[in-house]
Amino acid sequence: MAESDGRPKPERPKVDRKARLQLPPQKIAKQDPNVRVLNWSEVSLPISLDMAKAEAERCIQCPAAPCQVACPVGNDIPRALWQLEQGDAIAAADIFHETSTMPEMCGRLCPQERLCEGHCVVGKNAKPVAIGRLEAFVADAWRLREVAAPVVEATGQRVAVVGAGPAGLTVAEKLAERGHAVTIFDAWPEMGGVLRYGIPNFKLEKHVLDEWLERLDGLPVEFVGNTRIGAKGAKTVDALLASGYDAVFLAHGASDGNDLAIEGVELTGVYQATPFLSCGNLRPAALPESMREPINVGRRVVIIGGGDTSMDCSRTAIRLGASEVTLVYRRTEKEMTGREEERQHAREEGVRFEFLCAPVRFLGTGSGRVRGVQLERMELGPPDESGRRRPQPVPGSEFTLEADTVVLAIGYGIDTDATDSTGVACDKWGDVLVDRATGATARAGVFAGGDNVNGADLVVTAIRDGRIAASAMLEYLTELGARAEVAASA
Ligand code: SF4
Repeated sequence: MAESDGRPKPERPKVDRKARLQLPPQKIAKQDPNVRVLNWSEVSLPISLDMAKAEAERCIQCPAAPCQVACPVGNDIPRALWQLEQGDAIAAADIFHETSTMPEMCGRLCPQERLCEGHCVVGKNAKPVAIGRLEAFVADAWRLREVAAPVVEATGQRVAVVGAGPAGLTVAEKLAERGHAVTIFDAWPEMGGVLRYGIPNFKLEKHVLDEWLERLDGLPVEFVGNTRIGAKGAKTVDALLASGYDAVFLAHGASDGNDLAIEGVELTGVYQATPFLSCGNLRPAALPESMREPINVGRRVVIIGGGDTSMDCSRTAIRLGASEVTLVYRRTEKEMTGREEERQHAREEGVRFEFLCAPVRFLGTGSGRVRGVQLERMELGPPDESGRRRPQPVPGSEFTLEADTVVLAIGYGIDTDATDSTGVACDKWGDVLVDRATGATARAGVFAGGDNVNGADLVVTAIRDGRIAASAMLEYLTELGARAEVAASA
């Protein structure tokens, strides 16, 4: 019998659902806001196996598993939680790893309230099962277990991966495990992409990423950092193919911060979100030399934007020592696209919100440093193409906020340099056009996935794309190898 989503109905353990619905949710502790603003550690405190088992027991093992349907990688959550409930965190993690390469990242970073947990049946009348927290818990245990170094037989085929973020790392791991020699190119000095250079430590401590990367040790993976691929970079995609790579995976992401074309944007102290977050969160050695100067945010910081990145910047500014952080957004809180939990964390940490206003110009000192932002009040008009009500300026409503630092967190675009003149088709925003079932682009041997296909999106969707492309690339490389053998024997 099949569910409406086409998946076969799985056998689930028989549990007393009524009794389970009465089980209280576990209280997963967070750092006190007054304490956590003084450190860079993750907000949620570690949980014990007993707590994890008790929380997993709240899962009522629905056969339809709407949580699984809502998960972009289709994690079999009830099956994993059943294993955890029995006390076997490693078996639970094995189940998450069947469909995801990075459950420790997804468990921490997915907006669970609109994905798995938002569809949890227990959540209809109570708190949903804390799926993300449990996923991170078992994946952390799995990552730190003792395992023998992998033994792989080299195929002799070579693959170039452009971009060392979640999609690129997923493809690199999956292909290298099968013996293909993978070279990962990235413009940043170290691997991780958005996981290292975008997401702050208080959401993902970097040791989690570094430990994840250790699994590439022993696999045929080479990393070439500080190297941009594209017409303006060290090599083009054409040059990679011409130099003997059998396939290329494009995972260059969407990391170009959108700019504001207003007076004063060039002033010292006005930052784009990515450099601000990178410099604020990372040790200097992980940064390009030109970015190693520590940021002095001063006392007053204004963040422009309304998504999760703007919350990340606000909370980073607090940890960098700012005492007045104001987030400016041109609509109301109702129209904000980011996670409510992130806004709550920001509020708890002292971030002030100014809704319904937008910057008109940045004001500078005589020496070219920002000293404030001139803003105007907005009101909401009819809906725009996004379906949200369009903000319109209120005449004569200008006012000034003093600022020692300003951060622009108003969305990301795609740098099309990697794809210009390569025969890879893109839409007008630079999103690479792919066959969604394979990640194949218009150019044979070139695949793509992640934010450079979807626009700035979630880590979990990048992982999903990486897995889809890796399967298709393995088939492509097998066929290519078979054709080469036939040609050699002819
Ligand atoms: Fe939920 Fe994300 Fe994990 Fe899927 S990957 S189960 S959506 S936290």
